[in-house]
Amino acid sequence: MKVNVDGNLNKYYVQTLCMVFFPGVKFSDDDSEDGLEIDVRIAEDEEGATADAVLRHFDQVTRATHKENFKPEFTSERTLKIAVGAAVIAAAGDLVGYRPSWGMLTGVRPSKVATEMLRKGYSKTRVKKLLASEYFVIPKKASLATEVALNEAAIIGEPDPLGCSLYISIPFCPTRCAYCSFVSYTSQRLLSLIPEYIERVCADVKETLKTINELGLHLKTVYIGGGTPTILTPDQIRRLLSTVCEGTDVSLLEEFTLESGRPDTITAEKFAVAKEYSVDRVCVNPQSLCDEVLAGIGREHTSAEFFRAYDIARESGIKYINTDLIVGLPGDNFRTFSATYDKILQLRPDNITVHTFCVKKASDILRRGSDIYSLRGGDAGKCVDYSQIKSVQAGYKPYYMYRQKNTVGNFENVGFALEGAEGRYNIYMMEEIHSIFAVGAGAVSKMVKYPSAAGEKPVIRRLFNQKYPYEYLREDRSAALCDSYREFYREYYDL
Ligand code: SF4
Repeated sequence: MKVNVDGNLNKYYVQTLCMVFFPGVKFSDDDSEDGLEIDVRIAEDEEGATADAVLRHFDQVTRATHKENFKPEFTSERTLKIAVGAAVIAAAGDLVGYRPSWGMLTGVRPSKVATEMLRKGYSKTRVKKLLASEYFVIPKKASLATEVALNEAAIIGEPDPLGCSLYISIPFCPTRCAYCSFVSYTSQRLLSLIPEYIERVCADVKETLKTINELGLHLKTVYIGGGTPTILTPDQIRRLLSTVCEGTDVSLLEEFTLESGRPDTITAEKFAVAKEYSVDRVCVNPQSLCDEVLAGIGREHTSAEFFRAYDIARESGIKYINTDLIVGLPGDNFRTFSATYDKILQLRPDNITVHTFCVKKASDILRRGSDIYSLRGGDAGKCVDYSQIKSVQAGYKPYYMYRQKNTVGNFENVGFALEGAEGRYNIYMMEEIHSIFAVGAGAVSKMVKYPSAAGEKPVIRRLFNQKYPYEYLREDRSAALCDSYREFYREYYDL
C-alpha cells in the first residue's frame, strides 16, 4: 500500500490506521502490487483542521472529508489527528465495509485516553460519550476503557512521585512457541548461558537497587518476567531472589511477581523457594485448555500439565495466581474458547489476563506462510465478549488493558482481577505512572515523570539494555545505566 500525506502529520499514523482495515498490509513508497493507495490532504485554519482522504484500490475509489473544530481542550496536533483519523476511517470503512471497534484509537492505550479525560474532571458518562463521538469508539468499548480507567485510579490512588518498580528479564524458554517473536533463547547451546547470565543479572540487580536506595525512591513492585523465569533451577531461583531480598526490604513491597509462564517448567520445589523469599504473585499460563490448539501453536505442554502446575501454585501458598489466555489462536473457536474460559473460572484464579492473538512478523507461524491475518477476526469478537461478560458475572473487574497492532479482529488485551488482587505492576507499567528500572537482556528501563496536572505531558526516557543475552554478557553496561538514572532524577526531581 502506498500512503501519501500532504500536510504536517506523521505518515506512520495514517499507516497504523490503514493496518486496521487491511491487516498484514505492507507499505511502500512505490506503486504497490496490491493496488492500494491513499492520499490524505490536510488544511488548517483558525477554526480547525480539515482532512480529505481518498482511497483507491484498482478501479474502486472512496473519498471522505472531516472537519474538526478547534476546542480549547484539544491541542492543534490532536485536532489534526482527529480530523485525519475520521477521514481515513470513513474512506477505508466504506471501501471494505467495516467499522473498527476502537475507532481511531491506534498506538495509544484507550484507558490512558479515558484517564486523561477523568483527570480533567469529566464525568464517567461524558468520557464514554467523548470516546464515542470524538474517537469513533463503539459504545461497549468506550464503557470498557472508562471502567478500566476508573478501576486503575481507585487501585493506585494519588501516584507517589518517588515510587518505582524493578523488572528483571529472564529471556530463556524450554522450546519456542510458533506464535512468538520475543527474543528468547531456546536451543541447548544458548540455554547453557543461563548460569553465567544469572550471575550477571544478580550483579546488575544489586547495582540497580543500590541506585534506587541512594536516590531515596520507594520501590513498590518487583516483576521477574520472561521468556520463562521458571526455566531456572531451584538454586538459580534462590540465587536471584536472595539477591533481590538482600538489596531491598521486600516486606515493604506492594507486590513481588515471578512470572513463571510455561506450566511444563513449574515444580513444587521452585515455588517453595519463591514462597520462602516472599514472592506473592505467580503467573501460570495455559493460553488455551484445548490440547489440539496447544499442539497447533507449538506450546509443547498439555492442558493436564497446566492443571498440575496450577495445583502446585495453589498448594505453595503463594497468595496470588494469574493465568494468561489468548483469544483467536489458530484452530480455536467460540466453542473451544468458551470451554477453556469456563474451566479457568472454575479454578478461580486471582487474575485472568485475556490477550487477543497478535500476528508477529518474526513468528514461526507467519514464516510457515499461514494466512492468519483477519479483518473481523472470526469468532474472536464473540470470545472477547464472552470473557468480559463471564468475568464480571464471576466477580472479576477489568483493571488494566492495552492494545497491540495486528491483533486478530483488532481487539484488546484485558487483565481481570478479584477485588484487592490486582497486579499493580501491570498498571504502573501500562499507565506510565512511575519509573521502571529494568535489568537483563532485552529489558528497557523507562524513566517517568508523571504529570502533576491534567493536560500536562509526562516526561518519559527509555534506556536500553542489550537485546540478546550473548551481547548482554559481553559488555557490562550497568554502571552507565545507573549514571543515566541518576541524571534523570537530578534533572526532573532535583535529587
Ligand atoms: S513461552 Fe512465551 S516467550 Fe517463551 S517461546 Fe513461548 S510465547 Fe515466547
